[in-house]
Amino acid sequence: MDKILKIKDLSTGFYIEDNFYFALNNINLEFEKGKIHAIAGESGCGKSVFINTILKLLSKNSKITSGEILFENQNLLKIKEKDFNNIRGTKIVLIPQDPFMSLNPLYKIENQLLEVNSLKNKSKEEARKIIIKSLEEVKIQNIDNVLKSYPHELSGGMKQRIIIAMALISNAELILADEPTTALDVSVSNSILNLLLELKNKGKTIILITHDLSIVYNYCDTATIMYLGDIVESSDAKEIFKNPKHPYTKALIEALPTLRGKKLKNIQGQISPITNQIKGCKFHPRCEYKMDICSSNKPKLKENNFCKVACYLYE
Ligand code: SF4
Repeated sequence: MDKILKIKDLSTGFYIEDNFYFALNNINLEFEKGKIHAIAGESGCGKSVFINTILKLLSKNSKITSGEILFENQNLLKIKEKDFNNIRGTKIVLIPQDPFMSLNPLYKIENQLLEVNSLKNKSKEEARKIIIKSLEEVKIQNIDNVLKSYPHELSGGMKQRIIIAMALISNAELILADEPTTALDVSVSNSILNLLLELKNKGKTIILITHDLSIVYNYCDTATIMYLGDIVESSDAKEIFKNPKHPYTKALIEALPTLRGKKLKNIQGQISPITNQIKGCKFHPRCEYKMDICSSNKPKLKENNFCKVACYLYE
């Protein structure tokens, strides 16, 4: 199977008041081309740090301490910043949680779309044709009016469509979508997720960050569950739903609302801050199945019936 991205032993951390704290711990993951891969977990699990590490968009107090990020067989961590600009926003694009962050409030939409790298060598007429085709593909109506608008004149859903159109214009192979529907209404969210499905059907690879496991089930091919910077379970997305193994995955699924009015089960406790380094299995303070070993030793991620799981219940 053709892998577009391979992550090997990747660790990232942050300096906070003279101490260094890991936010990603030895991550090993491979992403097959033409699929939607979910990275899921609560806020603070390391999902966004993961994609910001891939794009080298981390804050100044951060450090990538080890690992390789192999994209099309090139280690992104070895590429100089000036050359990385030919990859970020061109071959790999980000769809952010808040589309407003990616659009310049001072420029009209048409001027911003004309700035996409892949259009730089085209005539204005050619570029406009490509822009209009992309806006049609993301189902934007009244294209002429939209092109003349400033970002603040458009709805959240419309702005997110513009960002997806930018990804289409740049012809990126890999799309990193960081909770792209969090700021949107349910009906608009579904249409944005359906657009991501259409991109997948055109052969694009999408890494979708989400805290919503119903999105994982309905839209994704694979799922990786993270907890405090560790992968705790990784599998086929439907399989994780039918047969969740890790107690954290089970708890996330049990916390999902259903239409049948089933009583929701809360995940006990709260996720710890990064500065609270937990020994052993990081989930043990919240785990209803914990054993003595769980608070002293950290379980390794191991193969178990077509999935990978890090939990002493499966050793
Ligand atoms: Fe729970 Fe122990 Fe498994 Fe961690 S290793 S999830 S504490 S049973």
